[in-house]
Amino acid sequence: MKTKIVFSEKCLSYGGWHIESPQRVKTAYDFLKTRSYQFVEPEATAEEDLLRVHDSDYIWNLKKGLVEDPDTPAYENIYEYARLSAGGALLAAKINGFSLMRPPGHHAGRHGAALGVYTRGFCYLNNVAIAVKALDRPTLILDIDGHHGNGTQEIFRGDEKVVYISLHRYPHYPGTGLHHEENCLNFPLPADCGEQRYLETLDQALGMVKMDRFEVVAVSAGFDTHLGDLASLGLTEPAFRKIGERIAALKKPTFFVLEGGYAGEKNGKDIDQLLRGYEGEP
Ligand SMILES: [Zn+2]
Repeated sequence: MKTKIVFSEKCLSYGGWHIESPQRVKTAYDFLKTRSYQFVEPEATAEEDLLRVHDSDYIWNLKKGLVEDPDTPAYENIYEYARLSAGGALLAAKINGFSLMRPPGHHAGRHGAALGVYTRGFCYLNNVAIAVKALDRPTLILDIDGHHGNGTQEIFRGDEKVVYISLHRYPHYPGTGLHHEENCLNFPLPADCGEQRYLETLDQALGMVKMDRFEVVAVSAGFDTHLGDLASLGLTEPAFRKIGERIAALKKPTFFVLEGGYAGEKNGKDIDQLLRGYEGEP
């Protein structure tokens, strides 16, 4: 069955000059519309869902717009946009879909910026974490964004229900994820390491976990590993198909949440390839 894409045009109505732009998602949406996907609209997440992940002081500050940091602006109404993006992840979790929403989430920790860094890396609420906590089932989180999901690691470190796997470029922002830490398995990779090294590392990572303990796979789906993108690991479209095939081989109900990826139409093609690989479609 074709994976449904969770999307609301509302997520395109803020920001502009920033690299985490509406255009990067709009261009992907426009491409995916030509590929016979079905689209479904999310609803904003209830505050109780946010509070399973973030502390109430941070949520209060986010509501008031008191969350300016150098790379993550306090846009007008950002709380509402962030809640809708988190709602996208929740709906994706419910229908095993792909949430094509912004802002992204994996750098957002419990209190905003994760421990040890000063910025939230374009993130406000940790969308994937909010969905995983709401499901409350044993979950493998696979983070294929090119940056380490330091927020997700902070939230789930020591959580017995979750294993977090991240493949990411290092040295690079946010500077974390150099070693495994408890239930967080980190695989730093050099810039532009290429598909072969990437896939070997992914196979090694997935080989380290016993899949029968998990009921769900949650994918933090970032595409900035694409050749020339912000955290390039030298991957191109065929690599994303092969990543999708490996996710399918885990044989678990799976959902995907968009993280980074800043190359517009390339994002759409990479998403399509990932999902085709996952669905075993030619
Ligand atoms: Zn990223």
